[in-house]
Formats: sequence, structure tokens, C-alpha cells
Amino acid sequence: MAAGLAKETKTCFSDSSSRFDRKYVLISTEKYLRRKRVEAKAALKTRFSIHEGLLLLFVGAIALLMWLLYLHEIELHRNDVSRDLSVAESLVTAQLESDQGFVEQLAREVSEGGLTREQFETRVSQRSLEAQHFSAVAFTEPSLSIRWSAPSNRSQEELRQLRAPFSEQERLLRLTSTTLRASYSEPFFAADGRAYIEFAAPIFTGTKFIGTLNALMYIGAMSRVVLPEWFQKKYEVNVFDANGAALTTRAEAAQQGFGYLTERRTLPLPWKGLTLQVRSQPRGSTLAAVTIAATVMLLAGLIAWSLYSLRREGVRREESERRTRAANERFETVLDSLNVAVYVSDDASGQLLYLNEHFKEIFPGLRHGTVEPFQDQFEPNLATLFPTHAADTASVLKGEIRHTPSNRWFIARVRRVRWVDGRAARLHTLGDVTDRVDAERVNRSQQERLMLTSRLMTAGEMASTLAHEINQPLAAVTNYLNGCMQRLRGGEQDLQKIAPAIEKASAQAERAGSIINRVREFVRTRDPRREALNVTALVEDDMRFAEPDPTKPTLNFVTEIGAGLPHVFADRIMIEQVLLNLIRNAREAMADVPPGAKRITLRAVQTSNDTVSMSVADVGAGLAPEVAANLFAPFITTKTEGMGMGLSICRSIIEYHEGQMRYAPNTPRGTIFEFTLPTADYG
Ligand code: ADP
Repeated sequence: MAAGLAKETKTCFSDSSSRFDRKYVLISTEKYLRRKRVEAKAALKTRFSIHEGLLLLFVGAIALLMWLLYLHEIELHRNDVSRDLSVAESLVTAQLESDQGFVEQLAREVSEGGLTREQFETRVSQRSLEAQHFSAVAFTEPSLSIRWSAPSNRSQEELRQLRAPFSEQERLLRLTSTTLRASYSEPFFAADGRAYIEFAAPIFTGTKFIGTLNALMYIGAMSRVVLPEWFQKKYEVNVFDANGAALTTRAEAAQQGFGYLTERRTLPLPWKGLTLQVRSQPRGSTLAAVTIAATVMLLAGLIAWSLYSLRREGVRREESERRTRAANERFETVLDSLNVAVYVSDDASGQLLYLNEHFKEIFPGLRHGTVEPFQDQFEPNLATLFPTHAADTASVLKGEIRHTPSNRWFIARVRRVRWVDGRAARLHTLGDVTDRVDAERVNRSQQERLMLTSRLMTAGEMASTLAHEINQPLAAVTNYLNGCMQRLRGGEQDLQKIAPAIEKASAQAERAGSIINRVREFVRTRDPRREALNVTALVEDDMRFAEPDPTKPTLNFVTEIGAGLPHVFADRIMIEQVLLNLIRNAREAMADVPPGAKRITLRAVQTSNDTVSMSVADVGAGLAPEVAANLFAPFITTKTEGMGMGLSICRSIIEYHEGQMRYAPNTPRGTIFEFTLPTADYG
């Protein structure tokens, strides 16, 4: 990963450098958008009602048209039926008149005595064969007894059962004898359940009334006999009496239905108010009209439905467009209110798509075109810092860069976004962090100076230790050289005998030189150099430096170093400095402890695969409470000569090594300072 480049998954707006009065902006935008929403809805409603009204008008017009067409069709149909009914009426009345004429003729012939019983029977049988409704004829005497009857295949008993009720027979006879004219009975139902009507014609011998000739006519069969076949196919014919009671069985069974037309015609006198009714089936054209109407209505319904769907779809689309627009407006309002420069560029072409207000303020030159020249103004180059393939939509890349023309520092973030028109784009934010960078720089140089001071102080302590160490080799050198001198002065000729002493002196001098080099190296400012370090050697070296005079030890060191401890990955000088600082603090904390009881425990253990923990524990006075609260802050000290920088620097060094530093009270007394270091394998 490039230095200073970190990957994070939070959005760029959560950055603390983009503080602004977001709440106010959002509230005012919300109000504005709510008003817009209400206006849009009202406009939609008006448009919707216009469409709806037009459609209703259309459907209404079609329905009216269809209805008029239907009425017209019915009218035509009714005219047809009426005409046919007139035909039927004339045929029926003609038949009745003919029957009437036949019976009256017979009566006359009987009256005149010109007709024998056989002839009477033959004539009647023939007639009833020709016309099925012509059921029977009876020569009825004034006593109501039957003298003759025909056709002969009907017995007297059968005939009696077909006749009108007795009272009606009486009434008919009386009427005929009084008026001496033929007349009809009321229609009646005979014993066989069929409706009949009787026609009675008077018979005389001279002027003497001797009876009536009663013809029984089966009403139900009359229309079948009289009306042509086409008529019967086309119509259902029924006969009703003057009270509207059905005289044909079919009439009762007749079903009402849509499109059926019924017409009635009452036969004139003397036929007792018999009513002829025809009922016609719906005509093909009426059916067609109804079908067309239904189809048109269905189509209109479909149109209405699709119009409604379209409208709904339109409303939905408009709503989603409005939302997108609103989101965009809100997005831009928010972005414009940020005090962070924001720009959006097309992912593929690098064309600028959007600049926020703050961007325009701080980079006044750039307005449109590609972003490349602008990105080149940064060190490192923005384009190289965030290569095209590096950012996926979910993540944000972050880096610190310098704008070379203005020499200002920015923290740049880039993230892939889908632009309002759907294309892939990149959203860049540039937050000015120049002040922070400057402050950090000042802080860092101060820290460096303090580190040097601290190092010099530590070096002073080391120097007294080293002075003693150097003394030893120097004394040895002096001894060896003195011995050589004495031998030479004593006339020693064999140089081979002197050489080993000189070699030893030289080795001791080298040792002294290396000790001095070490002090120089410690004091010199240099770049940190991390390497794999043996923890045991580190601890032992430090113990040596910490004791000003090894011949007169004042501290009792206890070391607890875990077996097989891995090397740590650290800068030797820096870690030595940390340990020396902690040991020095421990020693100073135990100033009041009797010399024999002073004890410093140096411990090193492996705490996980990749960390080693080291600690320095003393049995001193422990931490003063006011110090404990801000222990690692600079300039916190309880010592008259202290600078209060030791622990602060120690923690910086440990954090530089990606470790942590903490403290805890020791039991039964004193303090433990502990820090972690990465192992060399993982460092
Ligand atoms: P200085 O040693 O210059 O005061 P430090 O940062 O090293 O600066 O220490 C800060 C303060 O922390 C010291 O003044 C001391 O009061 C306290 N302190 C540090 N180490 C110990 C310790 N081992 N025991 C008790 N107090 C300590």
C-alpha cells in the first residue's frame, strides 16, 4: 500500500473537516421539496380528471349510440311482428268465420230436414279431419240432451266431457233460443285439460226452435291449423281469454328473455275477447347490435384500463423523476454547503461533471474540460494516487497531497459513484489540511529537538558508565605498553616476545574506541533503523548502561526473560533509550527505598504470535495521582530538574514501532511500565 494511502469504507461526508450547518440546509430543502411535491400532485390531479372526463364522455356517447341503435332495431322488429300478427289475426278470424259458416250451413240444412244423420256425421268428420281444432259437433236438444254427434269415433260420454260446463251450456242454449242467432260460449277448460270454445247455431223446424248445433273448437290447435309453417317457426303463438288467462299450455311455459318481443291482438266480437299473442325470438340483427355494443363497451373498457395504466405509469415515472431531481437538488445543496472542495468527473473520459461552490472558490481557474491538468497540479499526482481500477463503488480511498501552485496540503478522498444520468463517475473531495500539516511539522521538529536533548541527558549518564568501562581497557593498554617499554629498556631483543603484549594493548584500545563510537552513535541524530534484535542482549546492555559503576552496584536487577523469545523488529538505539528512561525513572522513584530493598524487575514475554511485551517494574513510591491522569503528556513532571518529556518520548518511540505503552501499579508497591514490540517475523 502506498504511503499515506488508506482504505476506508465510511462516506466522505462524515469527515470532521466538512463541518457545516447541515441541519439548516436540509430543513429548508425539505420544506421547499414538500411544497413542490404538493404542486406536482395538484397538477397531476387536474390532468387526470380531464382524461377521465374525456373517456367517460366517449364511453357515454358510445353507449347512447348503441342504445339508440338498439331501440331502432327493436322498433323495426316490433313493426315486423305487428305486421305478422295482423296476418295471423286475419287468418284466424277467417278460419273462425269459415268454421262458423260451416256450422250455420249445417244447422240450416238440419232445420230444413235436408240432412240425414249419416250425412251430418260424414260432413263433420271430414271437416274435423281437414281442421284438427274442429273437435266435434253435437245436435243439442232444448233439454240439453244430445241427439246427434260427430265425428262418430267419439262416444257420447267422451263428447260430454269435452263440452262446456253445464251452466255455460244452459246459458248458451238460452241465449241462442232467445236471440235465434248463433253465439259463442266463454272459453273453458274441458275434462282433458285443454281449452275449448263452443259455437252454437240455432235449429228450427218451421219457426219452432228445436235445438242447437254446437261445434267444439280446440283453441290450442287452432293456430297450428291456421298459421303457415314459417309463421310457427318464427313465432310462439298463444291465445288468452278476456281476463288474460292463458288458454294454451305453451303460453305458461313461455320464458321471458332478453330481446324477445311479444305482441297481442284482441279478436273483435263475437269471439269473446280472445287474444292472440305472438312472441318472437331475438332477431339476428338485434343480437349483432347487442354483440357490437358489448364489444365496443369492452373495447372502451380496455381503452379506459390501458389509459388508466398509462396514467398510473406516467404518475409513477413523474414521481420517480421528481424524486431523482429532488435528490439531485438536495445532493447539490448539501455539496455546495460543504467547506470541502468537491468535484465529480466521468470515469471513462475524465470530463468534469460537477464542481461545488467551495471548489470554485479555492480553484478559480477550473470550470470544465478534463480533470487531468488539474490533477497534475498535485504532488503526488491525484491520478496516480487513485488509479482507475483501484476504487470500487463501496470504498473510499484517502490520501494526503500537496497542491504545488498554492503549496497547500489537502486530504483527498475518491469514491466511485453512479452519476444522475447513470454513468460511472468519481467523486473527489479535497479538504484543506494545511494548518494541521504545518502544526504537525512544527510539533515534529520540536519533538525531534526534545528527543535529542533527552538523548544527550541519557548520554551523560551513559558517559559516566562508559568512562569506567573505557578506563579498564585504557588501564590495560597502559599496563601492556608499560610492560613492553620495560622489556625494551631491559634490552629485550626478541620482538616476538613483545608482540603479543602489543596486540593485546591494540585489542584493548579497539575496545575503548568501540565504546566511544557507541556513545557517539547514541547521541547522533539519525534516521531510525529497524532490525531484528535479540531481546536478552538488549536487556543486558541496558542494565550495564544503567549502573554508573558496575563495581559498586546500587540497584538490584531481576530479569525474567521468556524461553525461546523471538527477535523483535526495532531500532536498537531507540529501544535502548526507552529502557534507559524507564530504568532511570524507576531508580528515581526508589530514592527513599533503603539500598538493599531497591529492586527493578525487567520482564520480557511473548504475548501473541506477533508481539513481545517488555516491562520495567520498581518498588518505589508509585505514581502521584496528579501525574497519573496525564502521564504520557509532555512536560508533566514531579522532579525539580525533570523535563517531563521522558515518558512522552518513550510512548512516541513505541507507537512508531506500532506498539503500545501502558502502566499499572506494582504489588505490593511501585509501578510497572509495559510496552509491546512486533516480532521480527511479523514486523
Ligand atoms: P521526568 O522524569 O523528566 O519527570 P518523565 O516523563 O520521565 O519525566 O516522567 C514524568 C513523571 O512521571 C515523573 O516526574 C514522575 O513523577 C512520574 N514517574 C515516571 N516514572 C515513574 C515511576 N517508575 N514511579 C513513580 N513515578 C514515576
